[in-house]
Amino acid sequence: MRQRTIKKKVECSGIGLHSGKKLRLVMRPAEQDTGVVFQHMGADGKHTLRPRPESVVSTGLATTLGFGGRKIATVEHLMAAIAGLGIDNIVVEVYGDEVPIMDGSAASFVFLLRSAGIRKQAGSKRVFRVKRELLFERDGKAIRVVPHDGFKVTYTIQFDHPLVGEQTFCLALSPETFMHEVAKARTFGFMKDVEMLQKNGLALGGSLENAVVLDEYGVVNPDGLRFKDELVRHKILDFIGDMHLLDLPMQGAFHVRCSGHEHNNAFLRYISEHRADYLEEVALASPDAAAAACKEPAAAMEPALA
Ligand SMILES: [Zn+2]
Repeated sequence: MRQRTIKKKVECSGIGLHSGKKLRLVMRPAEQDTGVVFQHMGADGKHTLRPRPESVVSTGLATTLGFGGRKIATVEHLMAAIAGLGIDNIVVEVYGDEVPIMDGSAASFVFLLRSAGIRKQAGSKRVFRVKRELLFERDGKAIRVVPHDGFKVTYTIQFDHPLVGEQTFCLALSPETFMHEVAKARTFGFMKDVEMLQKNGLALGGSLENAVVLDEYGVVNPDGLRFKDELVRHKILDFIGDMHLLDLPMQGAFHVRCSGHEHNNAFLRYISEHRADYLEEVALASPDAAAAACKEPAAAMEPALA
């Protein structure tokens, strides 16, 4: 399997979730073995940042990367789109301190990247393959990973809300499954939290245009949900983006319960710090087995996570 980049420069603009300001984003092709590179384009020039687990400085509201006093917030949906479409090498220029929230999902980024076109490069795709099981648990949140050819995630959420309750979804990642099953799932929040955030000057760009908002009884958005289980699908989207902050994409089968950006990052830091024990770098000789179906029922994993 060969490395991929985009064929040409593409750009978009949109509102920042944190600031509510209009922001511009430009994406450019990159040489093989470049990886994903962010460039913060500020009044004082261009500063380069390679996303890494330890460059995450905040996980409230969204995943924020920081470096030398500068920051780029809300990277996870874009990182998920890059991972989902199997793009290895790309330069992302951010004009402002945030990646625009767009419609709260990864759909706009998928559209943009696909309209640029995807180009195969000469070098083999390199990945970190998980080589032994790791169970990472804290405060009722759990991520368990076992060796697997490809990236597969079975995710369970639980909210004490009449519309949500417990939801489980399994995704075996490939560009097709990503586009059809999770890319369109939007971020979500509860009305009481949204009101509190905005009173404190946070989530100023958040609205029904870019989030599913729930009140005590159901969905506030007039058009309702895009999927019956849109919330858990969005958590998978976030998880894909948050796991894509290593220098190479990870391969393994993940079983996740009630995690979020903070726990995702704690897990990623742990596995990165102990990479000699858990990860091996391999070059993929043949097409990966990512689309190998989600056969085992999620319930089979419950005892290990209980
Ligand atoms: Zn999200």
